[in-house]
Amino acid sequence: ADQIRVAIAGYGNLGRGVEAALRQNPDMQLVGVFSRRDPESVTLLDPSVPVYAMSEVETFKDEVDVMVLCGGSKTDLPEQGPHLAQFFTTVDSFDTHATVNDYYAALDAPAKKAGTVAMMSIGWDPGLFSLNRAFGEAVLAEGETYSFWGKGLSQGHSQAVRSVEGVKKGVQYTLPSEDAIARVRSGEQPTLSTREKHVRECYVVLEDGADADAVREAIVTMPHYFAEYDSVVHFIDDDTFAREHTAMPHGGFVIRSGVTGDGNRQSIEYSLKLDSNPEFTASALVAYARAAYRMAKRGESGARTVFDVAPGLLSPKDPAQLRKELL
Ligand code: NAP
Repeated sequence: ADQIRVAIAGYGNLGRGVEAALRQNPDMQLVGVFSRRDPESVTLLDPSVPVYAMSEVETFKDEVDVMVLCGGSKTDLPEQGPHLAQFFTTVDSFDTHATVNDYYAALDAPAKKAGTVAMMSIGWDPGLFSLNRAFGEAVLAEGETYSFWGKGLSQGHSQAVRSVEGVKKGVQYTLPSEDAIARVRSGEQPTLSTREKHVRECYVVLEDGADADAVREAIVTMPHYFAEYDSVVHFIDDDTFAREHTAMPHGGFVIRSGVTGDGNRQSIEYSLKLDSNPEFTASALVAYARAAYRMAKRGESGARTVFDVAPGLLSPKDPAQLRKELL
Protein backbone atom coordinates (compact mmCIF):
# COMPACT_ATOMS: atom_id res chain seq x y z
CA ALA A 1 0.00 0.00 0.00
CA ASP A 2 1.05 3.60 -0.51
CA GLN A 3 2.75 5.23 2.44
CA ILE A 4 1.24 8.34 4.02
CA ARG A 5 3.45 11.27 3.05
CA VAL A 6 4.26 13.27 6.18
CA ALA A 7 6.17 16.54 6.54
CA ILE A 8 7.30 18.40 9.66
CA ALA A 9 6.83 22.16 10.15
CA GLY A 10 9.39 23.42 12.67
CA TYR A 11 12.33 21.33 13.78
CA GLY A 12 13.00 21.54 17.52
CA ASN A 13 12.65 18.85 20.18
CA LEU A 14 9.22 17.84 18.99
CA GLY A 15 10.23 17.89 15.32
CA ARG A 16 13.15 15.57 16.06
CA GLY A 17 10.78 13.32 18.02
CA VAL A 18 8.40 13.13 15.06
CA GLU A 19 11.25 12.17 12.75
CA ALA A 20 12.19 9.36 15.17
CA ALA A 21 8.57 8.20 15.62
CA LEU A 22 7.98 8.01 11.85
CA ARG A 23 10.81 5.47 11.63
CA GLN A 24 8.73 3.17 13.84
CA ASN A 25 5.65 3.44 11.62
CA PRO A 26 6.27 1.80 8.24
CA ASP A 27 2.92 2.95 6.81
CA MET A 28 4.24 6.53 6.91
CA GLN A 29 7.13 8.27 5.27
CA LEU A 30 8.89 11.56 6.10
CA VAL A 31 9.07 13.52 2.83
CA GLY A 32 10.51 16.79 4.13
CA VAL A 33 11.06 19.26 6.95
CA PHE A 34 10.12 22.95 6.79
CA SER A 35 11.94 25.52 8.91
CA ARG A 36 12.03 29.29 9.29
CA ARG A 37 15.78 29.03 9.69
CA ASP A 38 18.24 28.63 6.84
CA PRO A 39 17.62 25.02 5.68
CA GLU A 40 21.39 24.51 5.48
CA SER A 41 21.63 25.10 9.24
CA VAL A 42 19.07 22.44 10.20
CA THR A 43 20.53 18.96 10.74
CA LEU A 44 18.14 16.00 10.72
CA LEU A 45 18.65 12.51 12.16
CA ASP A 46 18.45 11.29 8.54
CA PRO A 47 20.51 13.61 6.32
CA SER A 48 18.87 12.20 3.18
CA VAL A 49 15.55 13.87 4.05
CA PRO A 50 15.32 17.35 2.46
CA VAL A 51 14.93 20.53 4.53
CA TYR A 52 13.02 23.40 2.89
CA ALA A 53 12.39 27.03 3.74
CA MET A 54 9.02 27.58 5.43
CA SER A 55 8.39 30.40 2.95
CA GLU A 56 8.08 27.80 0.16
CA VAL A 57 5.71 25.52 2.05
CA GLU A 58 2.57 26.13 0.00
CA THR A 59 4.22 24.93 -3.19
CA PHE A 60 4.30 21.45 -1.58
CA LYS A 61 0.51 21.36 -1.23
CA ASP A 62 0.11 18.27 -3.45
CA GLU A 63 3.19 16.42 -2.22
CA VAL A 64 2.33 16.18 1.47
CA ASP A 65 -0.63 14.25 2.95
CA VAL A 66 -0.19 15.45 6.54
CA MET A 67 1.86 18.34 7.95
CA VAL A 68 2.89 17.80 11.57
CA LEU A 69 3.28 21.19 13.25
CA CYS A 70 6.10 21.24 15.79
CA GLY A 71 6.28 24.93 16.64
CA GLY A 72 5.74 26.36 20.11
CA SER A 73 2.21 26.94 21.40
CA LYS A 74 2.79 30.44 22.63
CA THR A 75 3.68 32.29 19.45
CA ASP A 76 4.35 29.82 16.59
CA LEU A 77 1.14 27.76 16.42
CA PRO A 78 -1.40 30.62 16.65
CA GLU A 79 0.18 31.93 13.45
CA GLN A 80 1.32 28.74 11.69
CA GLY A 81 -1.75 26.60 12.48
CA PRO A 82 -4.39 28.69 10.66
CA HIS A 83 -1.93 29.50 7.85
CA LEU A 84 -0.91 25.92 7.13
CA ALA A 85 -4.49 24.59 7.45
CA GLN A 86 -5.21 26.44 4.18
CA PHE A 87 -2.91 24.05 2.32
CA PHE A 88 -2.51 20.87 4.36
CA THR A 89 -4.20 18.47 6.71
CA THR A 90 -2.37 19.30 9.93
CA VAL A 91 -1.70 17.90 13.39
CA ASP A 92 -0.39 20.04 16.25
CA SER A 93 0.22 19.94 20.00
CA PHE A 94 -1.28 23.31 20.97
CA ASP A 95 -1.27 23.29 24.77
CA THR A 96 -2.62 26.62 26.00
CA HIS A 97 -5.73 25.20 27.69
CA ALA A 98 -7.19 28.64 28.39
CA THR A 99 -7.49 29.60 24.72
CA VAL A 100 -8.38 26.28 23.05
CA ASN A 101 -11.73 27.48 21.74
CA ASP A 102 -10.23 30.59 20.15
CA TYR A 103 -7.57 28.45 18.52
CA TYR A 104 -10.20 25.92 17.42
CA ALA A 105 -12.16 28.68 15.67
CA ALA A 106 -9.00 30.09 14.07
CA LEU A 107 -8.25 26.65 12.57
CA ASP A 108 -11.79 25.60 11.74
CA ALA A 109 -12.56 28.34 9.22
CA PRO A 110 -9.51 27.93 6.93
CA ALA A 111 -9.64 24.12 7.21
CA LYS A 112 -13.32 23.97 6.22
CA LYS A 113 -12.66 26.33 3.34
CA ALA A 114 -9.70 24.29 2.10
CA GLY A 115 -11.23 20.86 2.77
CA THR A 116 -8.47 19.88 5.19
CA VAL A 117 -8.56 18.43 8.70
CA ALA A 118 -6.77 20.50 11.38
CA MET A 119 -6.15 18.16 14.32
CA MET A 120 -5.26 20.30 17.33
CA SER A 121 -3.92 19.83 20.85
CA ILE A 122 -2.52 16.33 20.36
CA GLY A 123 0.03 14.90 22.79
CA TRP A 124 -0.45 13.73 26.34
CA ASP A 125 -1.83 16.85 28.00
CA PRO A 126 -3.73 18.07 26.16
CA GLY A 127 -4.26 14.81 24.32
CA LEU A 128 -4.28 11.39 25.94
CA PHE A 129 -4.96 12.87 29.40
CA SER A 130 -7.92 14.79 27.97
CA LEU A 131 -9.36 11.54 26.59
CA ASN A 132 -8.97 9.83 29.94
CA ARG A 133 -10.68 12.73 31.73
CA ALA A 134 -13.59 12.36 29.28
CA PHE A 135 -13.77 8.54 29.70
CA GLY A 136 -13.69 8.88 33.48
CA GLU A 137 -16.49 11.44 33.62
CA ALA A 138 -18.67 9.60 31.12
CA VAL A 139 -18.38 6.24 32.87
CA LEU A 140 -18.44 7.42 36.49
CA ALA A 141 -21.14 10.07 36.33
CA GLU A 142 -20.79 10.92 40.00
CA GLY A 143 -17.30 11.75 41.15
CA GLU A 144 -14.26 13.99 40.79
CA THR A 145 -11.50 14.10 38.16
CA TYR A 146 -7.89 14.90 39.10
CA SER A 147 -4.85 15.56 36.88
CA PHE A 148 -1.33 15.64 38.29
CA TRP A 149 1.84 16.41 36.37
CA GLY A 150 5.49 15.61 37.09
CA LYS A 151 7.93 15.73 38.44
CA GLY A 152 8.93 16.74 35.03
CA LEU A 153 10.00 19.31 32.57
CA SER A 154 7.13 21.08 30.84
CA GLN A 155 7.99 22.00 27.28
CA GLY A 156 5.17 24.47 26.89
CA HIS A 157 6.11 26.32 30.04
CA SER A 158 9.83 26.18 29.26
CA GLN A 159 9.07 27.71 25.89
CA ALA A 160 7.09 30.45 27.66
CA VAL A 161 10.05 31.11 29.99
CA ARG A 162 12.38 31.35 27.00
CA SER A 163 10.10 33.88 25.33
CA VAL A 164 10.78 36.40 28.14
CA GLU A 165 13.25 39.13 27.21
CA GLY A 166 16.58 38.71 29.01
CA VAL A 167 16.30 34.90 29.21
CA LYS A 168 19.15 33.09 27.49
CA LYS A 169 18.21 29.57 28.57
CA GLY A 170 15.32 28.36 30.67
CA VAL A 171 13.50 25.26 31.85
CA GLN A 172 10.43 24.70 33.97
CA TYR A 173 9.65 21.71 36.20
CA THR A 174 6.23 20.90 37.58
CA LEU A 175 6.11 19.05 40.91
CA PRO A 176 2.98 17.28 42.16
CA SER A 177 2.09 17.36 45.81
CA GLU A 178 2.51 13.83 47.30
CA ASP A 179 0.03 14.65 50.01
CA ALA A 180 -2.63 15.67 47.51
CA ILE A 181 -2.14 12.45 45.50
CA ALA A 182 -2.50 10.26 48.60
CA ARG A 183 -5.76 12.01 49.52
CA VAL A 184 -7.19 11.49 46.03
CA ARG A 185 -6.24 7.80 45.94
CA SER A 186 -7.98 7.23 49.27
CA GLY A 187 -11.32 8.05 47.62
CA GLU A 188 -11.84 11.09 49.82
CA GLN A 189 -12.62 13.31 46.77
CA PRO A 190 -10.91 16.38 48.26
CA THR A 191 -11.37 19.83 46.79
CA LEU A 192 -7.84 20.90 45.78
CA SER A 193 -6.92 24.29 44.41
CA THR A 194 -4.47 24.51 41.51
CA ARG A 195 -1.92 25.86 43.96
CA GLU A 196 -2.37 22.94 46.38
CA LYS A 197 -1.74 20.32 43.71
CA HIS A 198 1.44 21.55 42.02
CA VAL A 199 4.41 23.90 42.23
CA ARG A 200 6.18 25.38 39.19
CA GLU A 201 9.96 25.68 39.42
CA CYS A 202 12.02 27.54 36.78
CA TYR A 203 15.78 27.50 36.15
CA VAL A 204 17.04 30.43 34.06
CA VAL A 205 20.34 31.51 32.54
CA LEU A 206 20.22 35.28 31.97
CA GLU A 207 21.48 37.14 28.91
CA ASP A 208 24.45 39.39 29.68
CA GLY A 209 23.23 42.56 31.37
CA ALA A 210 19.65 41.31 31.88
CA ASP A 211 17.76 42.45 34.97
CA ALA A 212 17.02 39.39 37.14
CA ASP A 213 14.15 41.01 39.07
CA ALA A 214 12.43 42.10 35.87
CA VAL A 215 12.80 38.61 34.37
CA ARG A 216 11.45 36.95 37.53
CA GLU A 217 8.49 39.34 37.60
CA ALA A 218 7.70 38.76 33.89
CA ILE A 219 7.69 34.99 34.45
CA VAL A 220 5.68 34.68 37.67
CA THR A 221 2.96 37.07 36.47
CA MET A 222 2.53 35.51 33.00
CA PRO A 223 -1.17 34.71 32.55
CA HIS A 224 -2.27 31.09 31.84
CA TYR A 225 1.28 29.82 32.39
CA PHE A 226 2.44 30.97 35.83
CA ALA A 227 0.18 33.56 37.43
CA GLU A 228 -2.22 30.93 38.87
CA TYR A 229 0.56 28.91 40.55
CA ASP A 230 3.23 29.20 43.20
CA SER A 231 6.13 29.74 40.83
CA VAL A 232 9.79 29.85 41.86
CA VAL A 233 12.58 31.17 39.58
CA HIS A 234 16.23 30.15 40.15
CA PHE A 235 19.05 31.88 38.28
CA ILE A 236 21.94 29.61 37.32
CA ASP A 237 25.00 29.73 35.05
CA ASP A 238 25.56 28.05 31.68
CA ASP A 239 27.63 25.18 33.10
CA THR A 240 25.04 24.24 35.72
CA PHE A 241 22.35 24.40 33.05
CA ALA A 242 24.30 22.08 30.74
CA ARG A 243 25.07 19.65 33.57
CA GLU A 244 21.70 19.44 35.30
CA HIS A 245 18.90 20.66 33.06
CA THR A 246 19.12 19.16 29.59
CA ALA A 247 17.10 15.92 29.95
CA MET A 248 13.36 16.02 29.34
CA PRO A 249 11.58 13.49 31.55
CA HIS A 250 7.94 13.91 32.45
CA GLY A 251 4.84 12.03 33.46
CA GLY A 252 1.79 12.25 35.61
CA PHE A 253 -1.66 10.80 36.04
CA VAL A 254 -5.36 11.31 35.63
CA ILE A 255 -7.58 9.89 38.36
CA ARG A 256 -11.37 9.64 38.30
CA SER A 257 -12.66 8.91 41.76
CA GLY A 258 -16.36 8.10 41.80
CA VAL A 259 -19.18 6.28 43.51
CA THR A 260 -21.89 4.01 42.08
CA GLY A 261 -24.95 2.30 43.51
CA ASP A 262 -25.17 2.48 47.26
CA GLY A 263 -21.85 4.28 47.82
CA ASN A 264 -19.42 1.82 46.23
CA ARG A 265 -16.12 3.60 45.55
CA GLN A 266 -14.77 3.21 42.00
CA SER A 267 -11.42 4.56 40.85
CA ILE A 268 -9.86 4.84 37.38
CA GLU A 269 -6.18 5.78 37.09
CA TYR A 270 -4.16 6.48 33.92
CA SER A 271 -0.46 7.01 34.42
CA LEU A 272 2.53 7.98 32.26
CA LYS A 273 6.23 7.71 33.11
CA LEU A 274 8.24 9.31 30.32
CA ASP A 275 12.01 9.38 29.82
CA SER A 276 11.48 11.82 26.97
CA ASN A 277 8.46 14.10 26.88
CA PRO A 278 9.06 15.33 23.30
CA GLU A 279 9.55 11.81 21.90
CA PHE A 280 6.35 10.64 23.58
CA THR A 281 4.36 13.68 22.46
CA ALA A 282 5.74 13.18 18.95
CA SER A 283 4.65 9.53 19.00
CA ALA A 284 1.10 10.66 19.79
CA LEU A 285 1.27 13.25 16.99
CA VAL A 286 2.25 10.55 14.51
CA ALA A 287 -0.63 8.22 15.52
CA TYR A 288 -3.07 11.13 15.14
CA ALA A 289 -1.47 12.07 11.81
CA ARG A 290 -2.60 8.66 10.56
CA ALA A 291 -6.15 9.36 11.82
CA ALA A 292 -6.19 12.87 10.34
CA TYR A 293 -5.14 11.51 6.97
CA ARG A 294 -7.93 8.90 7.04
CA MET A 295 -10.54 11.45 8.13
CA ALA A 296 -9.54 13.90 5.39
CA LYS A 297 -9.64 11.08 2.86
CA ARG A 298 -13.20 10.31 3.92
CA GLY A 299 -14.11 13.89 3.11
CA GLU A 300 -14.10 15.42 6.59
CA SER A 301 -12.85 18.96 7.02
CA GLY A 302 -12.42 21.48 9.84
CA ALA A 303 -10.75 21.58 13.24
CA ARG A 304 -10.75 18.40 15.35
CA THR A 305 -9.51 17.35 18.80
CA VAL A 306 -8.94 13.96 20.48
CA PHE A 307 -12.65 13.91 21.33
CA ASP A 308 -13.56 13.70 17.64
CA VAL A 309 -11.31 10.80 16.64
CA ALA A 310 -12.51 7.19 16.73
CA PRO A 311 -9.73 5.13 18.40
CA GLY A 312 -9.50 2.61 15.55
CA LEU A 313 -8.39 5.36 13.18
CA LEU A 314 -5.17 5.72 15.19
CA SER A 315 -4.08 2.16 14.57
CA PRO A 316 -2.19 0.81 11.56
CA LYS A 317 -4.32 -2.34 11.96
CA ASP A 318 -7.55 -2.64 9.98
CA PRO A 319 -10.91 -2.89 11.78
CA ALA A 320 -11.22 -6.69 11.44
CA GLN A 321 -7.71 -7.21 12.79
CA LEU A 322 -8.42 -4.82 15.68
CA ARG A 323 -11.59 -6.74 16.59
CA LYS A 324 -9.77 -10.07 16.41
CA GLU A 325 -6.67 -9.06 18.37
CA LEU A 326 -7.70 -6.32 20.77
CA LEU A 327 -11.41 -6.38 21.42
P1 NAP B 1 11.45 23.99 20.59
O1 NAP B 1 12.48 22.91 20.61
O2 NAP B 1 11.75 25.29 21.24
O3 NAP B 1 11.03 24.24 19.07
C1 NAP B 1 10.02 25.19 18.72
C2 NAP B 1 10.40 25.82 17.39
O4 NAP B 1 11.56 26.63 17.55
C3 NAP B 1 10.75 24.81 16.31
O5 NAP B 1 9.58 24.44 15.60
C4 NAP B 1 11.76 25.53 15.46
O6 NAP B 1 11.13 26.22 14.36
C5 NAP B 1 12.39 26.55 16.41
N1 NAP B 1 13.74 26.11 16.81
C6 NAP B 1 14.10 24.89 17.28
N2 NAP B 1 15.41 24.83 17.53
C7 NAP B 1 15.89 26.07 17.25
C8 NAP B 1 17.18 26.66 17.32
N3 NAP B 1 18.24 25.95 17.68
N4 NAP B 1 17.28 27.97 16.96
C9 NAP B 1 16.22 28.68 16.56
N5 NAP B 1 14.98 28.17 16.47
C10 NAP B 1 14.82 26.89 16.80
O7 NAP B 1 10.08 23.48 21.26
P2 NAP B 1 9.65 21.96 21.50
O8 NAP B 1 10.33 21.44 22.71
O9 NAP B 1 9.77 21.20 20.25
O10 NAP B 1 8.09 22.14 21.88
C11 NAP B 1 7.14 22.65 20.95
C12 NAP B 1 5.76 22.72 21.58
O11 NAP B 1 5.25 21.41 21.86
C13 NAP B 1 5.66 23.40 22.94
O12 NAP B 1 5.51 24.78 22.82
C14 NAP B 1 4.42 22.78 23.55
O13 NAP B 1 3.34 23.63 23.36
C15 NAP B 1 4.16 21.55 22.76
N6 NAP B 1 4.01 20.33 23.62
C16 NAP B 1 2.77 19.80 23.80
C17 NAP B 1 2.61 18.66 24.58
C18 NAP B 1 1.25 18.02 24.75
O14 NAP B 1 1.14 17.07 25.51
N7 NAP B 1 0.22 18.48 24.06
C19 NAP B 1 3.73 18.08 25.20
C20 NAP B 1 4.98 18.63 24.98
C21 NAP B 1 5.11 19.75 24.19
P3 NAP B 1 11.95 26.48 12.99
O15 NAP B 1 12.50 25.15 12.54
O16 NAP B 1 10.89 27.02 12.08
O17 NAP B 1 13.01 27.46 13.32
